[in-house]
Amino acid sequence: MRPALSNVLGSSSTRALLAKAVRASAATNQAAAASASFPHRLPTTMATHAATLRPASRAPSAGSRVCASTHARARVTATPRKLGWTRGVVTARAVEASESSAADAQSASGILPERLSWPARSHGAGTLRASDVGSSVTLCGWVDKQRDMGGLVFADVRDHTGLCQIVSDDEITPEDATRSMAQMRAEWVVAVRGVVRERKDTNAKIATGDVEIVVTEVTVLNTVGKSLPFSVSGGDADDISEEVRLKNRVLDLRRPVMTRNLRLRADTIKALRGVLENEHDFVEIETPILTRSTPEGARDYLVPSRLQAGQCYALPQSPQLFKQMLMVSGLDRYYQVARCFRDEDLRADRQPEFTQLDLEMAFTDMEGILQIGEDLMCAAFKGGIDVDLPRPFKRMTYADAMERYGSDKPDTRYGLEMSTLNDLLKDTAFKLFSGALDSPDGVVKALAVPDGAQISNSRLKPKGDVFAEAVKGGAGGLAFVRVGEDGVTLEGGKALCEALQPVAADVVRRVEGAGPGALLLFGVGDAATTNKALDRVRQFLARALGLVPHHDGSGPGSHPAGSDGSDTTKHAVLWITEFPMFEKNVEEDRLEALHHPFTAPNQDDVANGGDVRTARAVAYDLVYNGVEVGGGSLRIYRRDVQEKVFEAIGLSTAEAEEKFGYLMEAFQFGAPPHGGMAFGLDRLVMLLAGASSIRDVIAFPKTASAQCLLTRAPGSVSDAQLRDLHVRRAEEAATEGDEA
Ligand code: ASP
Repeated sequence: MRPALSNVLGSSSTRALLAKAVRASAATNQAAAASASFPHRLPTTMATHAATLRPASRAPSAGSRVCASTHARARVTATPRKLGWTRGVVTARAVEASESSAADAQSASGILPERLSWPARSHGAGTLRASDVGSSVTLCGWVDKQRDMGGLVFADVRDHTGLCQIVSDDEITPEDATRSMAQMRAEWVVAVRGVVRERKDTNAKIATGDVEIVVTEVTVLNTVGKSLPFSVSGGDADDISEEVRLKNRVLDLRRPVMTRNLRLRADTIKALRGVLENEHDFVEIETPILTRSTPEGARDYLVPSRLQAGQCYALPQSPQLFKQMLMVSGLDRYYQVARCFRDEDLRADRQPEFTQLDLEMAFTDMEGILQIGEDLMCAAFKGGIDVDLPRPFKRMTYADAMERYGSDKPDTRYGLEMSTLNDLLKDTAFKLFSGALDSPDGVVKALAVPDGAQISNSRLKPKGDVFAEAVKGGAGGLAFVRVGEDGVTLEGGKALCEALQPVAADVVRRVEGAGPGALLLFGVGDAATTNKALDRVRQFLARALGLVPHHDGSGPGSHPAGSDGSDTTKHAVLWITEFPMFEKNVEEDRLEALHHPFTAPNQDDVANGGDVRTARAVAYDLVYNGVEVGGGSLRIYRRDVQEKVFEAIGLSTAEAEEKFGYLMEAFQFGAPPHGGMAFGLDRLVMLLAGASSIRDVIAFPKTASAQCLLTRAPGSVSDAQLRDLHVRRAEEAATEGDEA
């Protein structure tokens, strides 16, 4: 392990110095080992290492009595910056050396107090300000960085509130405290007493940059017994692979940005609870985790029952049916910070288990729920990041969103809207378009990049990046033309231009942003695929053209935390309403509920014998900057209506009874009208934090392959456990099958 040091040593002169120091270390070891009366012997490996870094001239002679702290001090004073070592690297090596024996690691304790006691914390490290100058304070936390300037030792002590510089001062700091400071290494746990004074060289980068603490007492509460996989204080997650972060999650969460995220999460939840409990009289009720399959339409996580052989519990995909039953029970207003489980393929904003703020209200119309939804969203932004969202939130129907953005969660911070051109192109001579329009579901849509010259032709052709996005979105290709300076003449592929020219003026008028110099991009095919492809192209172009704010706050907008909250180009919040009740599952050729099958149909659409299968639902989603953060609906509360919906999705009466009979029965006990919604808490906090993955706002998340790298779940289980659960391994079952 130690040879790694050579990797950080640059010049031959530094190597020579090291060689000398290694020779000295042998003597030091003998001395330490020979010292019978030495009370807190440093672990040999550490002592060796410490001595390794001592200049030979200062090495004690063999047989001399050396105390551990002298070693460590000598080590530190001999760790000159000019050797080109980064402090983190040296520290990591030093600690690594102590891994070789568990006993040794334990007794890094040479430095530790024998009694488990320490002075009580008086202040958070990050809370000290100029107004505290003169106060005696005690900080408890971790060593963030330590710098020994040859007797004058600086360190930063970090806790959950931030960090503050501590310093030794010959006139005030007792010698043993200076020694302890000299020994400190990154991530050691310390309690430090001292007096706050003004800093000569203020540091505007940190909140405590005006002050420092002159140390009067140091207690090292713990050292680090293992090589640090990354620097906690370094802080930039981009430099650390996510795998390493997730494996070492304990340390990862200690990074200030992660601590902040988890605190932001807690603050957000606190703000949301406040709205529900204090302003709207909601009551928090827990619902079961071991339950039956719930209706959100994803794959279930199953838990085999020991007591009921061959039966399984399902983990809830949401508390949907329980919250509806609570309304029948007369609880009136329910909420829960609910854990939900869906065994789906994962993405950056999906986890197999996630948390939602789930709520339900009786005797409400849609308006009542939307108002509470807005209260909650505003409280989350205000409480979480002090942003005032503009109210009332905008609304857009599903049909409108699909037409203009090709998506039911459009990011409306920028334009690039699309338009359907079917009516203008119905007689077109361009085969690709006419072929698509011959099919009942066929569409031709276009979107315009106003300053089209920004996107070159090569990016739009088969090897180009824009083309590639269209294909990833499911399109076969990407047709395009450019609008000439006169605003009507089309330029581009001959056949397409000729075919389009007769309707060019109408197309230019119809498509938002089209005009002289614009680039027109076309999506062609069935509506679903065309929307998906153009939506993808739209989002890609917006990023490529710098129309969307970046997570780091650059770009034309900014990270919400930095804004004043009044600018809708930074905070585009909108309700999407009037979803269809069902969508077609093309593979299985059947209807599926777009939300879930407990969503009420729009009364205007089903009154007078209207067909529920083509009805709109009284459902709504809440979208923030192109991310769906919540959704819900008014519910069906009558058995007869519920049966019709089950029938529409192809659930037989027997199946419906078997799966959801208990809810149908509840409806017969006097169910009130009711409705509700759920916020995806992880996503919401991710947006507030400006993070790009929900894993950054979940303490212990899973990877994209649904594993926890920290605990190594899922793990194997013993045959006996499986037997208890009446479960056989597939291989076993197959072998038995062969034998039979
Ligand atoms: N149960 C729904 C979901 O989890 C939310 C709702 O309809 O209240 O998405």
